[in-house]
Amino acid sequence: MRIVVSGAAGFIGSHFCERLLAEGHSVVALDNFLTGSRRNIAHLEGNPAFEFREQDITLPFRIEGPVDAVVNMASPASPKDYLRHPIETLEVGSLGSRHCLQMALEKGARYLVTSTSECYGDPLVHPQVESYWGNVNPVGPRSCYDESKRFTEALTMAFWRTHGLRTNIARIFNTYGPRMKLNDGRVVPAFLDQALNGLPLTVFGNGTQTRSFCYVSDLVDGLYRLMQSEERFPVNLGNPREMTILEFAEEIRKLTGSRSSIVYEPLPQDDPQQRRPDITKARTLLGWEPKVSLEEGLRQTVEYFRAAGRHRLRSYRCFLPPCSIAARKALPWKAVKLGREIHI
Ligand code: UDP
Repeated sequence: MRIVVSGAAGFIGSHFCERLLAEGHSVVALDNFLTGSRRNIAHLEGNPAFEFREQDITLPFRIEGPVDAVVNMASPASPKDYLRHPIETLEVGSLGSRHCLQMALEKGARYLVTSTSECYGDPLVHPQVESYWGNVNPVGPRSCYDESKRFTEALTMAFWRTHGLRTNIARIFNTYGPRMKLNDGRVVPAFLDQALNGLPLTVFGNGTQTRSFCYVSDLVDGLYRLMQSEERFPVNLGNPREMTILEFAEEIRKLTGSRSSIVYEPLPQDDPQQRRPDITKARTLLGWEPKVSLEEGLRQTVEYFRAAGRHRLRSYRCFLPPCSIAARKALPWKAVKLGREIHI
């Protein structure tokens, strides 16, 4: 199949492209690098079955030649990213999705969109099952992401109902693994970065909120199976092993052998208190469930972060004012002064 993937240079997008290529498909990869990175796909660029095009999908675009499937993964996805780009986030879920859906329709292609557990907001039903409509603050800071994804789901359903487009909707729960951005603010890279650099782990709130973490290869396998299914309604993809953020901090300390302390910081507004996917539907329909344990997945991720750290994660102790502006500019993207980050 010839498959168009938007958001291909993102963390999950790049892993998904790899899987498609490994399955013998050819990929037309799109990204505008708002939050994705060229580094994530650099190793694919010599592959004749992989074609990359820098493209903002909120602007109209055309793809020449036949297309069998469109996989729309484009969106800022970490709270830090979407809070920094709220309008772009809303536009990519609306305008961007509209363009991708239209292309799928014109090409006679099937369509998969990656949605999110954020559709459930701060859920009042636990664990979250697909039939739950959610508890979303439509005007809070996270609404740019939550409502963008809820809109993209509604638009996808409308294209199926109106045009009979073969659509799939994946609701992705917290996913982690190599190629996460080290500084995207999410809890996995944040804790690993802190633990590996001997900095305190920043637990937001009292750490009793829960999350369930899925390793990226498991998630990609779920997406690949879903893409071939005839299920039109959303399907949860995530790992049902749930833990509190404090338990997760402990797990990270154990795994990295870090003696980092824990500091408590304010809980972000509308931060969901509990999150765990009910994956009965994915199990039944797709024969899918996660295989990689948290310990194994974190080990692989730590390896990546350690390697990445050798090149870009050096933390510098920098004493100001003796350090001149020129000297500061010569340092990598961050310096640490007495345990506090100085962004330069
Ligand atoms: N969190 C934390 N410390 C951090 C980053 C995140 O305690 O440095 C918490 C955050 O408040 C949330 C959970 O970890 O309860 C997961 O946050 P993340 O940003 O990874 O994703 P979310 O599930 O909120 O989209």
